[in-house]
Amino acid sequence: MNRAFNFSAGPSTLPQEVLEKIQQELLNWQGTGASVMEIGHRSSEFMDFADKLREKFVKILQIPDSHEILFCSGGASTQNAMIPLNLLGNKKSADYLVTGLWSNKAWLEANKYCTANLVANGKENNFTSIPERSSWQVHEDAAYFHYASNETVHGLQFHEPLQGIPVPLVADMSSDIMSKPIDIYRYGLIYAGAQKNLSTPGLTILIIRRDLLDRARHDIPLNFHYDTLRNMNSMPNTPVTFSWYIADLMLDWLEKQGGLSAMAQASQRKSQKLYTAIDKSDFYINHVVPKDRSLMNVLFYLHDDKLTPLFVSEATANGLISLKGHRDTGGIRASLYNAMPEKGVDALVSFMNDFEKTHG
Ligand SMILES: *Cc1c(COP(=O)(O)O)cnc(C)c1O
Repeated sequence: MNRAFNFSAGPSTLPQEVLEKIQQELLNWQGTGASVMEIGHRSSEFMDFADKLREKFVKILQIPDSHEILFCSGGASTQNAMIPLNLLGNKKSADYLVTGLWSNKAWLEANKYCTANLVANGKENNFTSIPERSSWQVHEDAAYFHYASNETVHGLQFHEPLQGIPVPLVADMSSDIMSKPIDIYRYGLIYAGAQKNLSTPGLTILIIRRDLLDRARHDIPLNFHYDTLRNMNSMPNTPVTFSWYIADLMLDWLEKQGGLSAMAQASQRKSQKLYTAIDKSDFYINHVVPKDRSLMNVLFYLHDDKLTPLFVSEATANGLISLKGHRDTGGIRASLYNAMPEKGVDALVSFMNDFEKTHG
């Protein structure tokens, strides 16, 4: 069977070149006579590898000296608790902007640890737009301001960095990290689960401003204490070595493609093609206001929702897989991460046109 175009929101498609490299190195990684999954994380080979991995992240993301990159496990959601436990310091509250499922989850979890102020809630308009800035309640005494830069489930994305927030900015970039250059210096903390646009599940990256490392409560789990991670080279215990390894292959692949600005251009082109196809049709519809539409996760609905299961099954039969929308939204979701080639989008658009001709 040929490889399908995989539109899964996460875990997501990886470039074929990367999979082939994994296959090639699987039995004997870097002359060790073992796979990377089988060697000790304290071996000199793995420690050297980990140092280089950190350097690659610093180079590609242009992480300034003011910030530190840390590798964590537990997925992005674990950070929903770890962020308040590490960053509240002597403050009692934090600000949360809710624009979709993921930022809502972060807000709900934070309520266990602090007064989590709701800055604004996009649920009032069914998460079809980011609430107007003039409606936000921003608190100067909050420990930090949390938001999700891309809402993977609802298909919304911030396209400009947030300006003028008076407290450290904390961003969940799980589904748009590595899709464009980022001004890291603007952020107190950026975090991202790796399984969308960076690697396989397991690894979570944290990019934290160094002066925020000393605020953690002392009674929190050692492995989730940011300063412990820093002091122990992100290895307080056995890390998810395979996910680190794939992240490294992905960074090499990304550089070969031309780096973050090339990824940004490709994302623009791919998403534009798909939104154009949706907008010019009376058969498909997307409800998100154009200025807030996600370039990574494109949602759409068939006007006749009864045809949705048929759309998904015929797409699958045509080698276009994982298009079924999230259970909370229904409809169709096409995730266009870095590893989705433009050819995959072309194939989807062409399938959509054919499906409309047959069933419209
Ligand atoms: C997938 C996702 C998460 C959750 O990731 P886990 O690693 O499963 O915890 C959190 N935030 C965003 C924006 C996501 O896309």
